[in-house]
Amino acid sequence: MDTLPLFDAPPAKPRAYLLTCNNADLARDNIFTWTLPAWWVTLSDGTRFNVCPEAGVCGRMCFAYDSTSSYKRFPGARAAHLLNLELTLHHLSDWEGWMVAELRRPRYAVDARARIHDSGDFYSLPYTRAWFRIMKSAPHVRFYAYTKAVTTLRTVIAEMGAPANFDHRFSLGGTEDDLIDIEKDRNADVFPDAASLAAAGYVDQGASDLIAAGPDIKVGMLANRLSRTRKRQGKQSFSQHQKTHDARRSERERQAAVRRAARRTAAVPEGLSRTPNSG
Ligand code: SF4
Repeated sequence: MDTLPLFDAPPAKPRAYLLTCNNADLARDNIFTWTLPAWWVTLSDGTRFNVCPEAGVCGRMCFAYDSTSSYKRFPGARAAHLLNLELTLHHLSDWEGWMVAELRRPRYAVDARARIHDSGDFYSLPYTRAWFRIMKSAPHVRFYAYTKAVTTLRTVIAEMGAPANFDHRFSLGGTEDDLIDIEKDRNADVFPDAASLAAAGYVDQGASDLIAAGPDIKVGMLANRLSRTRKRQGKQSFSQHQKTHDARRSERERQAAVRRAARRTAAVPEGLSRTPNSG
């Protein structure tokens, strides 16, 4: 990918702190956050980039992707998230160095918690490896993340070992849901209401997002407050929507395979399709 003109010279750290504490729900628990744009985004050079390559049905119901969300409505927020992404895309090692240095500052010295991505995801192996190195450099900070990038995360864990100060939770509603064992892997699902969340045997994360960093295998959250995405979600959880979506796609693929086989059979000259006489 081309280097952005803006960064032809070595970039300067764009602000004093890369981690923020602006998300009202997370600020309640003094959780610092690192945010990328959600899902598909247009970069400064006009190319389109998918920040959440494993997003499935969640994309259509994403709080951060909806045009009415504060992530989209406020130009300052949009620009900051895009800058975060472009720094990691084009200047990963500079960004990594800044993060390592930042986490040594006094603001993170006591009981610091950091959530990686309140939107966006571990979009590539190099980016994920950089985060693993950052986390290992800051054992005094406790990190956590929801992610749909199951294969990416497992690959990097196998390569580098999981940082001892990192709790990850696979979130359902993505294209890799079938790789998640919901009875064994810590996972999260989004439910339309508290009753369906409890009925599915999930622990409600509403009291604190830090529940997601805890030991419960199944953690649920309620649908976001945006009326449009709530309507899209209807009465099903993200994982149920994803299952329905996957089943429909499999059925379409099966029917397409049947049609292809039928066309091949029809194309064989009649004489050749007969079983030859044995005698
Ligand atoms: S992975 Fe998360 S941030 Fe990305 S589209 Fe899905 S819900 Fe939104």
